[in-house]
Amino acid sequence: MDYNPEEGWHDPRIVPYQEVSLSPANATLHYGQAIFEGCKAYRYEGGKAVVFRAKDHVARLNRSAKILDIPAVDEKLVYDALMKLIDIEKDWIPDGPGQSLYIRPFIFSTDPYLGVSVGQYYKLMIILSPVGAYYAHGFAPVKIMVEDTYVRAPKGGLGAAKTPANYAASLHGGLVAHEKGYDQTLWMDGIEHKYVGEVGSMNILFKIDGKVVTPELDGTILDGITRRTVLQVCKEWGIPTEERKVSIDELIEAYENGKLEEVFGSGTAAVISPVSVLGYQGQDRVISGGKIGQFAQKLYDYIDGLHTGKEKDVYGFIDVAGEY
Ligand code: PMP
Repeated sequence: MDYNPEEGWHDPRIVPYQEVSLSPANATLHYGQAIFEGCKAYRYEGGKAVVFRAKDHVARLNRSAKILDIPAVDEKLVYDALMKLIDIEKDWIPDGPGQSLYIRPFIFSTDPYLGVSVGQYYKLMIILSPVGAYYAHGFAPVKIMVEDTYVRAPKGGLGAAKTPANYAASLHGGLVAHEKGYDQTLWMDGIEHKYVGEVGSMNILFKIDGKVVTPELDGTILDGITRRTVLQVCKEWGIPTEERKVSIDELIEAYENGKLEEVFGSGTAAVISPVSVLGYQGQDRVISGGKIGQFAQKLYDYIDGLHTGKEKDVYGFIDVAGEY
């Protein structure tokens, strides 16, 4: 689908996967005015092809659009396009544990203009790809490094949008963390290097003294759909939750007092990612005895069950796109 100032969003169409031709002066290539989403379709009990929380993903696309000054899309139209594409491609949804069809809607400016300014012309595209299980060798914990040098998205920046700039800002710090033997980076606020934010492609949650605590949505982190799911499920299960500032000092103190029970990430790719090691300023702290936390395991099993129909869809998260 295309956008121009005269017609607005127009000409929605489904075409075979193909290359895109762009001007070398394309504004997005130079200045990154682009946004995207990532959601998944699953094979569901009873021979259905379903998508998880599709409307929430489309709504977030428009929230990202607002932050990047991209014209809003008609959410019903984009939702209908997602459902239609999943139905067409449903035979590509793999039929194995943890496997799914990944759906990537994205919007970018197509202005062939080298000046730095908000674009006038845009394209929205949706591509799909089967993805294997995130935990190909079984559900396993990860080591994360709390980053106190590089900054991903400071306050007043683009952290709440799903936009390439945030990922570009995370590449070098992520590589450095990898070289030090960590799987992921936990980014901190860019001003005081005191409060933790989120992991590269996941939100972060802590089980501290029986409560599930996660950084508040202060504009520097993504409003993760899986984070929302976890908080909703916790409420249902009667587990207290807190969305607030979480400082590294608080985490270290909770760890030293034996109150930091579990650490885990949440995101569409991994669903739940238990953390076994928290590295900070060269010192590793081993979480949950270096094993998968019981709570993280329970959450993973439950949310995975919601995706595939093993658990009843009591929240209305599932939309059926097609039947086999
Ligand atoms: N933070 C960032 C930076 C991400 O890229 C993602 C993945 N979309 C998340 C958090 C988790 O969001 P969600 O649960 O919606 O996938």
